[in-house]
Amino acid sequence: MSSGNSNNDIAVIGAGIVGLATALTLQQDGHRVTLIDQRDPGMGTSFGNAGAIVTGAVAPVASPGLWRKLPKMLTNPDSYLSVRWSYLPRLMPWLWQFFRAGTPENVERIARELAPLVFPAYEAHQALMRRHGIEGIVRQVGWLKIYDQAGFDATSDDRALLRRHGVRFDELDADELRQLEPGLNRRYTHAIFQPGSAFASTPLKLSQAYAEAIRRGGGSFKKQTVQGIEIGADGRPVVVTEAGRAACDRVVVAAGAWSKNLAAMLGARVPLDTERGYHLYLERKSGPGVGRPTLVGDHGFVLAPMADGVRLTFGVELAGVDAPPDFRRIRRMVPRAQDVLPGLSGEPQREWLGYRPSLPDSKPVIGPSPRSERVTFAFGHGHLGLTLSAVTGRCVADLVAKRKPAIPLEPFAATRF
Ligand SMILES: Cc1cc2nc3c(=O)[nH]c(=O)nc-3n(C[C@H](O)[C@H](O)[C@H](O)COP(=O)(O)OP(=O)(O)OC[C@H]3O[C@@H](n4cnc5c(N)ncnc54)[C@H](O)[C@@H]3O)c2cc1C
Repeated sequence: MSSGNSNNDIAVIGAGIVGLATALTLQQDGHRVTLIDQRDPGMGTSFGNAGAIVTGAVAPVASPGLWRKLPKMLTNPDSYLSVRWSYLPRLMPWLWQFFRAGTPENVERIARELAPLVFPAYEAHQALMRRHGIEGIVRQVGWLKIYDQAGFDATSDDRALLRRHGVRFDELDADELRQLEPGLNRRYTHAIFQPGSAFASTPLKLSQAYAEAIRRGGGSFKKQTVQGIEIGADGRPVVVTEAGRAACDRVVVAAGAWSKNLAAMLGARVPLDTERGYHLYLERKSGPGVGRPTLVGDHGFVLAPMADGVRLTFGVELAGVDAPPDFRRIRRMVPRAQDVLPGLSGEPQREWLGYRPSLPDSKPVIGPSPRSERVTFAFGHGHLGLTLSAVTGRCVADLVAKRKPAIPLEPFAATRF
């Protein structure tokens, strides 16, 4: 049997940004990694996000008083939040825990627990990129949220939460915002700017660069679907795919929104669901565009200046992983985006739907499976999978090496539910 510190054969299930960053970090520790995914690396949810590595994202999605706003949001066809009513019965247990996460005490606790994971998020990516010579994909251009006066006033509780938890941000007035982003509609007179955050201008390229670094280091990729994970008589995990059964020393489950059934095979009942989100592209015909991912407070969409055009990301659709996409809502945002950033074309292109892997308390699951400490979970990163992928890799590598994790991992245990 191989040692606990290196030379393990580790199968990583899922080659999204979380599986890739984790496999690369494990490989640096001397392990032999094999990524198993039915798709090419980075082609799941990690393909289409807004590219933001937000180092101050400590607030959970659930917030005090959200339930009061809900009826209005759910009946407004332009709201970023929507539910497929046929999915509601299956969603109820998740929703119940989601609302519980939004009490003032729980929001405070979750922010406290997320802070040590979120703060080093960019630094962890930088360390991987530096070591493997990955340049020009991620830049530290900050994370911007823009508001009119009323919208900004409504964020006072959010700003107080950030301050209490030591998040560094600037409050910009109209002139400062104009200097930073001259192309925006002058209706936006206030902004919250987190200068420490970063931006991947092509998220797929970052995934591919991590995949390439894994290949260069001797790691391999199998294009297969994992049907089961078992624990053999010798205690080693066995991964079952359409190609057969393969024993290994350790397994990491990083299958994003599809991790729930795999976790259940290892004795964990996690309330993982998906917050579906969409993107489309708008060509910039004239004007200066934006220089960084910009959340437009009154509409709830992000305009992200990708290398190949402006990517508009929008929506939290609670409908599970099987329902077909519905692009009507995001298409209605196109004229609004043109109003926010004059000079954008009105012709949406390259529409896409992705599946955020979401736990109701907005925290990922990072830790051993209940059935075997040889299986480590690394999934459920919700709105923050790109942000938290490299730091998740560090946590998993610490667990595998039996080092004391630099970040307290009890709050992320699969058994917390
Ligand atoms: C519209 C939108 C905008 C977003 N913006 C941001 C942002 O700006 N910043 C940020 O940090 N996050 C953002 N996110 C969230 C982020 O994209 C996700 O959290 C992240 O991509 C999750 O990564 P993952 O590796 O866990 O999952 P995925 O990228 O989905 O990868 C999981 C992989 O597992 C594979 N898989 C699943 N089941 C199996 C199986 N049985 N066998 C083999 N393979 C399997 C899948 O094929 C897939 O490739 C956004 C999400 C959306 C939808």
